[in-house]
Amino acid sequence: MITVAELAEGVRADKRAVLARAITLVESRRPDHQALAQQLLLALTPAPDAPIATRVGITGVPGVGKSTTIEALGNHLISLGHKVAVLAVDPSSTRSGGSILGDKTRMGTLAVNPRAYIRPSPTSGTLGGVAKATRETIVLLEAAGFDVILVETVGVGQSEVTVANMVDTFTFLTLARTGDQLQGIKKGVLELADVVAVNKADGDHIVEARVAARELSSALRLIHPRGSLWRPPVLTQSAIEGTGIPEFWDAVIRHRTTLQEAGEFDRRRRQQQVDWTWTMVRDTVLSRVEQSDGVRSVRSGVEAAVQDGSLTPALAAQRLLDAFDGR
Ligand code: GDP
Repeated sequence: MITVAELAEGVRADKRAVLARAITLVESRRPDHQALAQQLLLALTPAPDAPIATRVGITGVPGVGKSTTIEALGNHLISLGHKVAVLAVDPSSTRSGGSILGDKTRMGTLAVNPRAYIRPSPTSGTLGGVAKATRETIVLLEAAGFDVILVETVGVGQSEVTVANMVDTFTFLTLARTGDQLQGIKKGVLELADVVAVNKADGDHIVEARVAARELSSALRLIHPRGSLWRPPVLTQSAIEGTGIPEFWDAVIRHRTTLQEAGEFDRRRRQQQVDWTWTMVRDTVLSRVEQSDGVRSVRSGVEAAVQDGSLTPALAAQRLLDAFDGR
């Protein structure tokens, strides 16, 4: 059995086999594994003067070009001297068993580059469980010297909000949409996005992409009024040709620098830690309620009563909580 100290040492030395074991440990739901994982994370707490990695979220509908962008961006970052880790948060994979990023062939050159590390979404548990594992994996990867962490997600349920809360810069990829089609973009994602890029701006689509970028930019001005600390730029790019990728990264760095200069970067990270703490409290309380013997014994009856209208949801909730035996 490998010790926590050996795991920590192996992770710090970026030994990939050890790193993979450490990630498996933080992903595990076994209580003994979780206890070890917490010791490991404590052992890997960064020194106050350690360099701070850049954490970037990337979202967009399937097919928009996230993987292709990550492949191009990752290679660009490596050429700048960075070490790049790619993670995914895909709660739907818990049902399908498959995962975005499951197929590394879409990031062919990045996957084989020794300065890159690609890890698909954990496939067990709820969004809360996946998010916890991903946050903890970020800590491991940063300890291993990865200074850029890219977290990919598709806009399923709350997953975008979850990823936005674990990164410094949240980016949104879209296709050229104008006029009425703009309505098809979820408003929530525009509120979360720090950088927006219209992808597939190549061939016959360049002009269309530029027009779409201008329209999106006006839509964003309504969300971020003049005087806001940061107004998200809308860029155009072609992931397949690599055009606009360096500019995409420049925008991420400008965002980071703007937040840092205003003292907002540290404040955000500290707030994320506090929010994360409370999220785990909520998740744990909920799972204790669901698993308590008292709740289990009344659950199906209460649910049936809500369904047939003999109990209101509020009364049903009260009945379940009354049945919760507090363990
Ligand atoms: P994801 O589902 O968002 O990860 O999208 P992929 O990266 O897998 O890309 C979906 C499809 O769009 C693939 O066939 C890509 O080759 C293609 N694609 C991605 N980026 C571009 C681009 O910039 N221009 C063009 N023309 N096609 C692209």
